[in-house]
Amino acid sequence: MMSANAYETQDFIMNTNVEQRIISDYASEIYSAAVKELHRLENAMSFYREASEVSLLNRNVGGEPVKLSKEMMFVLEQAKHYSRLSENAFNIMLSPLIQLWRKAGEDNKVPSNDDVERTLTLCSDDNLLLDIDKDTAYLTKKGSMIDLGGIGKGYAADICCDIYKAMGAASAFINLGGNVKAIGNRADGSPWTIGIQHPDRPRGNCYCAIMCSDVSVVTSGGYERYQEIDGVKYHHILDGVTGYPSATDLKSVTVISHSSTQADALSTAAFVMGLVKGTDLIYESGCVGAIFFTASNEIYMTKRIRQYLKLLERFACYEV
Ligand code: ADP
Ligand code: MG
Repeated sequence: MMSANAYETQDFIMNTNVEQRIISDYASEIYSAAVKELHRLENAMSFYREASEVSLLNRNVGGEPVKLSKEMMFVLEQAKHYSRLSENAFNIMLSPLIQLWRKAGEDNKVPSNDDVERTLTLCSDDNLLLDIDKDTAYLTKKGSMIDLGGIGKGYAADICCDIYKAMGAASAFINLGGNVKAIGNRADGSPWTIGIQHPDRPRGNCYCAIMCSDVSVVTSGGYERYQEIDGVKYHHILDGVTGYPSATDLKSVTVISHSSTQADALSTAAFVMGLVKGTDLIYESGCVGAIFFTASNEIYMTKRIRQYLKLLERFACYEV
């Protein structure tokens, strides 16, 4: 049970549900500061808002390099870093492909191989050039676009936790559309926990819980968001090599990291890469670790996970 002085709020920002719990004498001020910051980030990073830095960059494709804020440059650099680390399994350039598949859903018709191939040429990470010294970014190829849907929420969760700390909250929790991060412990001294959704069961049914005090926990899964085309389910995480929704051997991946930006990018990437390559990615990245829920309902976890894990039911769990 939450203690009386925990300030709990629910908002809809960045196109997703934002749940905050702040324990501090100044909780309402801290909450207001965080919300203000989330609106600012939404204005900067939204794919749909014309005035966002993302739109500015997307509009100038093939034109001049675009001067961006240091913050946007940082997020773009991070995105590129995780693209390299994941051999492009994580890719913020997939937007044309995302739109192709969205349209396919609306038309109830799977895109042709030709359409997929043609669209893929727009999605190469090489079509985005960054000049770190000048703080400029440049999209080289007409039709290319960036979309921060796979990393922006993680970055925003990091920023909110920075605010909680800077404003003196010793204890706070944010769930930004599935990107969870917490600082300190709950009012009663117990760690903050987040339940991990069982991929096959109705929403709210968790197969384990993770203690998330001072770390971020992010899950990517094919069960979360998908559309049906001609009676077949297509999920929303795409494979930039094939151009199709990732034919992964996983139902979900949960990543634990001190950085929610990292956890967000890695969970998407590891989901696309599958169990074996995804495991390598997690170890190479230096994050805390990951839990993999496979298509054959086996659960694997990397070596440092156990101390964060709270089992809710008995299940076999292998170390990788
Ligand atoms: P969610 O946003 O549902 O929590 P993710 O963090 O895994 O899930 O991000 C998925 C979103 O990122 C998609 O909705 C899409 O906008 C974008 N996306 C899809 N595939 C990729 C990919 N391979 N790399 C980066 N972003 C992707
Ligand atoms: Mg992600």
